[in-house]
Amino acid sequence: MKRVYNFSAGPAVLPEEVLKEAAEEMLDYRGCGMSVMEMSHRSKAYETIITEAEADLRELMNIPDNYKVLFLQGGASQQFAMIPMNLMKNKVADYIVTGQWAKKAYQEASIYGKANKIASSEDQTFSYIPDCSDLPISEDADYVYICENNTIYGTKYKTLPNTKGKPLVADVSSCFLSEPVDVEKYGMIYGGVQKNIGPAGVVIAIIREDLITEDTLPGTPTMLKYKTHADAKSLYNTPPAYGIYICGKVFKWIKKMGGLAAMKEHNEKKAKILYDFLDSSKLFKGTVVKEDRSLMNVPFVTGDADLDAKFVKEAKEAGFENLKGHRTVGGMRASIYNAMPIEGVEKLVEFMKKFEAENA
Ligand SMILES: *Cc1c(COP(=O)(O)O)cnc(C)c1O
Repeated sequence: MKRVYNFSAGPAVLPEEVLKEAAEEMLDYRGCGMSVMEMSHRSKAYETIITEAEADLRELMNIPDNYKVLFLQGGASQQFAMIPMNLMKNKVADYIVTGQWAKKAYQEASIYGKANKIASSEDQTFSYIPDCSDLPISEDADYVYICENNTIYGTKYKTLPNTKGKPLVADVSSCFLSEPVDVEKYGMIYGGVQKNIGPAGVVIAIIREDLITEDTLPGTPTMLKYKTHADAKSLYNTPPAYGIYICGKVFKWIKKMGGLAAMKEHNEKKAKILYDFLDSSKLFKGTVVKEDRSLMNVPFVTGDADLDAKFVKEAKEAGFENLKGHRTVGGMRASIYNAMPIEGVEKLVEFMKKFEAENA
């Protein structure tokens, strides 16, 4: 068996321990005589799986009782529509555009109501987070929307925007469970799990109860109403059952590792190794304003597209996979999510040093 160091932005690396456990339980889940994949989502065994998953997530994130946890499908991209359909009561919302995912969410919201772009970092190819301490928040805005960690560009909000009392809605797909979070600062936190938690096919949405109402935009399908899933505890219809089971295992793994504070420490340590090298390198350089650097996604370039391509190719041959930057920005990107071990980053930096010496 060969395992590579996988720097993919998503679907991405998962803890090896979790994969092994899932493999052991594949044919016979704890004496059930069947795989979790083959099991009714209404069975006792599955009920335990989904209930424990929610309880462990609540414990990890310290989620208050007045927030619902929903396991949904359709990817983070479906939330770009579900959010305005469910939350745009006045048909007005403010969007801060710090990358492609925020831009897509903003564009989608414009289909359903008045979406205002109140700040953007597009002028500098999204390489920074704008000052959000005193933005022109709309009087009648139903919510303020951000993408908290910009997977493609490698920026992260270090302070949340001042929403002047409006509920904050945050896409945390690529920083979910990477550090402690104060859930009460948000109206809604959501993300696709395939970046930092589990397999593709599950979206987790954590929503303050008072925002979940029958009052959705006319024509909103039953399946796209948060209330449908909240009332049915994510079992209105067949949920992405196997994916939720793996997420549950990852929650237990994070708990065992010491929770979100320990994750943060582990992630800071890893990111520092890479950023310190980028700051001292004569060949490679980071593309993001220092104070807005993400702990999860680290884009970098040599400044020469041919040399970038050579690096990606040789890195792959050396066992470092998926270092090519997003197709829209080029260069390289190392995604170093929770499950990436420190050795992975140390070895990558070693390899980069060698490449630099050979290509000076
Ligand atoms: C990957 C990603 C998305 C899109 O997720 P899908 O599940 O493919 O729809 C949205 N937002 C962010 C921040 C992402 O990283």
